Amino acid sequence: MAKKSKAKNDEEFGEDGDEKHSASPIPIEEHDDVTDAATPQPTIEDLPGVGPKGAQKLRESGYEDLMSIAAASTGELMAACEIGEATAEKIIIAARSKLDIGYKTGIEIMEKRKEIGKITTGCTSLNALFGGGIETQQITEAYGSFASSKTQLGYQLAINVQLPKEKGGLNGACLWIDTEATFKPERIKQIAENHGLDPNKVLKNIIVGRAFNSDHQVMLAEKAKEVIKEKGIKLIVVDSLTAHFRADYSGRGELAPRQQKLNRHIHALQKLADMHNLAVYVTNQVMANPAIMFGDPTTAIGGHIVAHATGVRIYLRKGKQGMRIARLIDSPHLPEGEAVFRITENGIEDA
Ligand code: ADP
Ligand code: MG
Repeated sequence: MAKKSKAKNDEEFGEDGDEKHSASPIPIEEHDDVTDAATPQPTIEDLPGVGPKGAQKLRESGYEDLMSIAAASTGELMAACEIGEATAEKIIIAARSKLDIGYKTGIEIMEKRKEIGKITTGCTSLNALFGGGIETQQITEAYGSFASSKTQLGYQLAINVQLPKEKGGLNGACLWIDTEATFKPERIKQIAENHGLDPNKVLKNIIVGRAFNSDHQVMLAEKAKEVIKEKGIKLIVVDSLTAHFRADYSGRGELAPRQQKLNRHIHALQKLADMHNLAVYVTNQVMANPAIMFGDPTTAIGGHIVAHATGVRIYLRKGKQGMRIARLIDSPHLPEGEAVFRITENGIEDA
């Protein structure tokens, strides 16, 4: 049964048709502006083998432009449009070649990096550690034990992203994926008020999605595209990235599927960061397993998958007299180092 409908969908996609489709002005995702501005931008209809019905199906499944198709995986497109592997592959390859997103020169990459925005943390030394603030186009991960201030830093960023650029923000909104019901609007209100901001306006610009399990969490990220465009999201917070995965796949034999899914989730987040030039901040716990007698007791959850897939990692820990210490663990472009800050009723502050 399922096969039949799949075949039918393939047929729809195969329906090339003789009719020429005029290049309708469907906005293409921002990508390198090296293409000739006078050339009309290709649309989904321009893909070989995708007729009007196929294009409609793609749009209904959330693939509105060539970039979203070019960035999709075969499996993703197969599932979303109920088409076969060969058809999905053909469409993706065609979208990629239309957009000319193969190799890029260092200059082009540098141009894209010029668009990187930074969100202030509200603390001078922490900003310095991050090279100015939390960057867009990448995932920043904070890991640490309970009460190390992972969530507090998220709150501060969710507020600061809304500030104008000259104040260290990105004039944007925040999408907050809350996995442990730890999102507290009262605390946001307190921090916002203490910064002289209208707390209601600030809270309106924070869109919260409560994830009930790891599947739901993955889905919230994968369906985030619309809300990102609609609300002008410039920061996605996932608090916590790993907790559900840890709980849902606790058995011994479940490590591989867990890591696979976590990997997919992180890559979906990275894709959003790239495509929409936004920052992603994720939190992660450390292992608190008393059975571990050897090795670093402060190892982050998620193993190599998380360690390699997130861009910048900081390790947060409690210091003396309510201080918090952030250590930059891993960054492709920043030196290792430490910063000390405080959490007060005002949020994140200089020590
Ligand atoms: P976690 O790393 O578990 O996410 P949190 O980010 O929730 O930790 O940080 C909790 C810490 O934040 C608490 O130890 C508390 O000291 C501090 N904190 C929370 N709210 C306030 C507040 N209103 N005023 C001062 N400190 C606060
Ligand atoms: Mg927390």
